[in-house]
Amino acid sequence: MKASLISVGTELLFGQITNTNAVYLSGQLQLLGIDVLYHYTVGDNPDRLRRVLRLAYEDCDLVITTGGLGPTQDDLTKEILTEELHDSLVLDRRALDAIEGFFKQVGRPMTENNKKQAYLPARAVIFRNAYGTAPGFALEDGGRIAICLPGPPREMKPMFENDARPFLASKSQSVIFYKLLRTFGLGESSLETALGDLIAAQTDPTLATYAKEGECSLRIASKRATEAEARAAVEETERAVLDRIGAYVFSDDDAELAQVVARRLIAEGIGFSCAESCTGGMFAAEMTDIPGISAVFERGIVAYSNRAKTEELGVSREILERYGAVSRECALAMAQGLAARTGSRLAIAVTGIAGPGGGTPEKPVGLTYIACVFDGAAHCEEIRMRGADRYRNRRHAVLSMLSMILRLVGAGEG
Ligand code: ATP
Ligand code: MG
Repeated sequence: MKASLISVGTELLFGQITNTNAVYLSGQLQLLGIDVLYHYTVGDNPDRLRRVLRLAYEDCDLVITTGGLGPTQDDLTKEILTEELHDSLVLDRRALDAIEGFFKQVGRPMTENNKKQAYLPARAVIFRNAYGTAPGFALEDGGRIAICLPGPPREMKPMFENDARPFLASKSQSVIFYKLLRTFGLGESSLETALGDLIAAQTDPTLATYAKEGECSLRIASKRATEAEARAAVEETERAVLDRIGAYVFSDDDAELAQVVARRLIAEGIGFSCAESCTGGMFAAEMTDIPGISAVFERGIVAYSNRAKTEELGVSREILERYGAVSRECALAMAQGLAARTGSRLAIAVTGIAGPGGGTPEKPVGLTYIACVFDGAAHCEEIRMRGADRYRNRRHAVLSMLSMILRLVGAGEG
């Protein structure tokens, strides 16, 4: 099935609201195996809506509209759709009862124009609105399907989930099942190299990579007659992928790296502390974003100056003078000092040159050291980030810290 979305509303054209309905519906249709070919946005104008509708049906058999179902005169979506799909509006008793019930429930008087919303196409499958007054519907005419949904997302989404999705699933001969594997520490090009032959040979399941902020995701999707078949195909490919890059995969359920690490630390009861120089508390902030972390997070120290590294963590003057604050030796001394002072089972420290200035040929911007003492054993990693974007470098350092913890603690079954 091929679909177009038509978002109706002059506010959308004025830039007053963001078209989140189109984003949501496109994602949902993709999961159903329905190709979305176009997004149209049109104001509350009957002639232009009619033109867009005709245009959409030139390539598509399914059109989903949102908005313009309200009680006022300029809400005309339903009227135009009904005309174009050769039907007529009739008073729907159940819809009228539901609208009257809604007004009783919220204790507001019902106006005469609310009755307009109870007029629905005679042949349509009606979708009740549990969170508002405008019902939605699905209407078919000679192989063309129209689905009409209200504009407000809090009304549109439940209606899509409860009514439109089952309706569409019943029309479609296939379902899509997919898994998103999120990886860290492997660039998009390395990922493609590691999986090159699988990607080249793909027909179904399909494999696609997406990169963002040092993280790279792999989507494995299959479109089959039943969900069970699609799931089995995806899982078989997933096993082949994990054989090759399993060490870099941190989640298969949409969880963020910080969530995965936190879950793991909490489940294992591993108390931890951090000492941050270049990230200035970003790591601690990321961890404290996660509910329940207080069970294991002991302390975060921002040791930015050399003096702080010495006073707070016991880094010796000799190390700072001989190797500098951005060095393997300093990172290790920070982590060891932190472990000794806090008694935490896991103590992690970071020091680096975030940029944009401050780099030298030997120590360029982006050079970062992360050291971690876990159960008495010290580990250190050197990272060289390209680019002088201060925020990105600091963010990448935080993700690298999280990734290092996951590798030391073991990914396990969080
Ligand atoms: P109402 O009965 O509230 O008038 P309606 O179905 O007529 O509903 P609109 O009047 O088009 O819908 O839009 C109502 C509100 O819904 C908008 O002010 C906006 O907040 C939200 N909305 C409409 N369309 C979208 C969209 N495409 N994306 C996000 N929000 C939207
Ligand atoms: Mg309206």
